[in-house]
Amino acid sequence: MRTPFIAGNWKMNKTLDTAKEFMQEVAGQLPDPTEVETAIAAPYLFIESMMEVQTDKTLKIGAENCYFEDSGAYTGEISPLMLADMGVHYTIIGHSERRKYFNETDDIINKKILAVYRNHMVPILCCNETMGRRESGEKIHWVVSQVAAALKGVSEEDAKSVVIAYEPSWAIGTGDSATADQAEEGCYLIRQTIADLYSDELADGIRVLYGGSVTPKNVVGLMAKQNIDGILAGGSSLKSESFIQLANYQK
Ligand code: PEP
Repeated sequence: MRTPFIAGNWKMNKTLDTAKEFMQEVAGQLPDPTEVETAIAAPYLFIESMMEVQTDKTLKIGAENCYFEDSGAYTGEISPLMLADMGVHYTIIGHSERRKYFNETDDIINKKILAVYRNHMVPILCCNETMGRRESGEKIHWVVSQVAAALKGVSEEDAKSVVIAYEPSWAIGTGDSATADQAEEGCYLIRQTIADLYSDELADGIRVLYGGSVTPKNVVGLMAKQNIDGILAGGSSLKSESFIQLANYQK
């Protein structure tokens, strides 16, 4: 039984005040985490304050990225050790914007995944798919290879907790979501890849999310699919009202 997971990715948005306001607005409005788990990946600077103003522990506050070393001469970076020390549980790794604008390669992403586990946190691994690759028919190979490369050297014990998001970049921030069938196809492919890398049993237990222009309007159709266990939402996670609606998609 996989607990549905509705996660938000704020990217480089909000101020400290609006981040804290969001926490007040969602208080008491989100589902019981045993029924639907919720999380927001927030800019590093806001994480501690968001945790402090939280009146219950319903919403998990995560990070959007981290470096792969725990400490050292890496000016400007934030380490997984620092995040774990602050009580962070989830961090996004390998978002398409990191791959595109910050030249993150499969090798860097793999190092980050290993670093997250080394610090007893859980990665939300994002796998990208471009329209060009989709249309060329190459997408299967690319999504599979991103998962395999990211999880290289990850033990079975650690892999049990991984959350993987299928995020076609043609659907991210465009208002043009993948259809529920397209999203299901991507999520199924990811689960099959996990079955090949580990086992059917492990693949059955992990959560695979879809991300790309999800709104309160299309969330129900997406969540009805067998291999879609949750959502990674960018734009729709910024306003408390729409995030609350996404999280309560079952009502
Ligand atoms: C994202 O950035 O991961 C994302 C899915 O964004 P949006 O929901 O805005 O398309």
